[in-house]
Amino acid sequence: HILVIGSANADHVMNFEYLPVPGQTLKSRSYRLEHGGKGANQAVACARLCLPDSRVDFICHLGQDSIGNEMRDSWLKDGIQAEGITLVDNVSTGTAMIFVADNGENAIGIAAGANAHLTPLELEKHYALFANAQYLLIQLETPTETVSNALQMAKRLGITTVLNPAPAATQELDYLKWVDIITPNETEAEALTGIEVKHEEDAKLAAQWLHQQGITTVVITLGSKGAFISSPGFTGLIPALTVQAIDTVAAGDTFNGALVVGLSEGMSIAAAVSFANAASAITVTREGAQRAIPYRSEVSR
Ligand code: ADP
Repeated sequence: HILVIGSANADHVMNFEYLPVPGQTLKSRSYRLEHGGKGANQAVACARLCLPDSRVDFICHLGQDSIGNEMRDSWLKDGIQAEGITLVDNVSTGTAMIFVADNGENAIGIAAGANAHLTPLELEKHYALFANAQYLLIQLETPTETVSNALQMAKRLGITTVLNPAPAATQELDYLKWVDIITPNETEAEALTGIEVKHEEDAKLAAQWLHQQGITTVVITLGSKGAFISSPGFTGLIPALTVQAIDTVAAGDTFNGALVVGLSEGMSIAAAVSFANAASAITVTREGAQRAIPYRSEVSR
């Protein structure tokens, strides 16, 4: 079964003609509240995309507030197991305030809230979920020590570890030695390696650097170009599907969830990336974060 560890955020999104400047109060054209956060998006992707007899656990901390309860209910409907989800008293659910201008520019403020309470000590309370896992999928929106401990604990138990190094990391890369599969996008690959990644050739160089840190399989996502794989069994680009993209939020998260689902079913890395490309191509044709993530039946069609 698949174990996801990570963040959950309530994303408050406002659209403006232009971003308000300091001191200015501006009326937004539209407002919406999205269920987001990289960990939660990836857990939802796993749950919607896996086969009915598989199990997805999600270790995550929410606030004991209305949005926390709402997100938890929604995840349970998607088939995520309840054990790993903790509602913490006297702290708010992780929150992001996202301002988007018509020209695509944005300004974002994040309050980690309950996500910051997911400490290594909390993680240890969920040891049983590790004991049964085949794959661990984790990102960098939870405290670094928690990420590090989770990877180390998983490796010790023989679990295949998948790190989506997002948001981009530039320091504290000690934990890379416990990573089996890493999945940066172009920006994140550059932050990790110092190599600017625009094309397949740059991706190859960045992958080389990551292999030198002991990571066996590197998958660099390249947006509408697809994803570059560098692994013992296969090296090359798997092109994206051609779709009309309207909102790329959660594209990478859908990709990561789908990749792990594919691998957990015994797909080759190339087949799993093709499956992930197909799933995330659907996500970019829809607005929103978790609500944009497709179900298995849609990807099969
Ligand atoms: P992130 O969302 O983390 O920045 P990418 O932009 O690299 O990651 O997108 C992740 C994956 O989503 C890509 O590898 C690709 O499969 C898919 N994808 C992203 N943008 C498009 C697009 N415009 N058309 C088709 N697929 C896309």
